[in-house]
Amino acid sequence: MSRFWSPVVQTLTPYVPGEQPQMQRLVKLNTNESPYGPSPRALAAIETQNNDDLRLYPDPEGAALKQAIAKLHGLNPNQVFLGNGSDDVLAHVFAGLLKQSKPVHFPDITYSFYPVYCKLFGIEYKTVPLGEHFEINTSQYKVPNGGIIFPNPNAPTGRSIPRSDIETLLASNTESVLVIDEAYVDYGTQSCIPLLRGDACPENLLVVHTLSKSRALAGLRVGFAVGHPALIEGLERVKNSFNSYPLGRLAQAGAIAAIEDQTHLEQTSKKVIQTRTTLVDELNTLGFETLPSTANFIFTRHPKHAGAKLYQALRDRGIIVRHFKSSRIDEFLRITIGTDEQSGELVAALKEILA
Ligand SMILES: *Cc1c(COP(=O)(O)O)cnc(C)c1O
Repeated sequence: MSRFWSPVVQTLTPYVPGEQPQMQRLVKLNTNESPYGPSPRALAAIETQNNDDLRLYPDPEGAALKQAIAKLHGLNPNQVFLGNGSDDVLAHVFAGLLKQSKPVHFPDITYSFYPVYCKLFGIEYKTVPLGEHFEINTSQYKVPNGGIIFPNPNAPTGRSIPRSDIETLLASNTESVLVIDEAYVDYGTQSCIPLLRGDACPENLLVVHTLSKSRALAGLRVGFAVGHPALIEGLERVKNSFNSYPLGRLAQAGAIAAIEDQTHLEQTSKKVIQTRTTLVDELNTLGFETLPSTANFIFTRHPKHAGAKLYQALRDRGIIVRHFKSSRIDEFLRITIGTDEQSGELVAALKEILA
């Protein structure tokens, strides 16, 4: 605390990311990173930029990366906004699109960065409770609002809803922006990006993606939003009033190559889905109750063992998962899907703990 902090800084409760412990030989299943490396083509592309040209600023527009993203998704490059990770993109979205006279709506259990941005930017928000089975019920969002945002699949539950639910919501929600955070979409969720193609692109739907999860580039910091060109223009206005060069040369080059390597994405995502299926079966055999997941993590609880205790017992065995101390979900563990070997170690440790 310093008396030189501005008033808003004194009121902030910053987001706390999952820990990045420096200990060796940990089974790290707490921050939803990919257990596999990024595309080798991305690593090679980064290498080509590792030279004296680093004295020069990068392309402030990221035109080549926008082009690659637009091509992959069948969009126009003016429908793409780039950021230094999707958290950075989301900050621009809150500041530029979701700060309105009515409150922004999001689920009561969701990505905990959303209320943090609201606080930072002075945005009023209202939370909408998840259903009995931790599902998002889009009909509850059909109320006057200054914007709607939720991840699909939701975090930390891993549950997704079909695109048709979002289309129905969009049809009635004509007066504010609907933002779908698709950080985990590649593990079995229907993307809303197809709705943005061509002349039918709605003027108020924005879809946010990251290269941190399925493209295994959390360390490079690249995310993007896609939507109507006018929405993108709004985000660009915020960006160019804040930081003209959010993406460095290495990041732009690596991201282009990663986006172009769809085969690597498909192979690694498929492997994660296989490991998830096996892990869920094994945990449920041990008596765990696991929410249906279409993400690279699962949300699970044991009716006879407290979440906090399991978290600590796993930690004592060098296995790090995530536990949230909020009401309604403090019995759950959020476990990132790792390799088959890591899954094996997790299940073995849990058998020991439950015994
Ligand atoms: C991981 C995550 C992000 C942000 O990832 P970046 O690394 O900042 O791109 C955004 N939204 C959700 C729901 C996430 O889980």
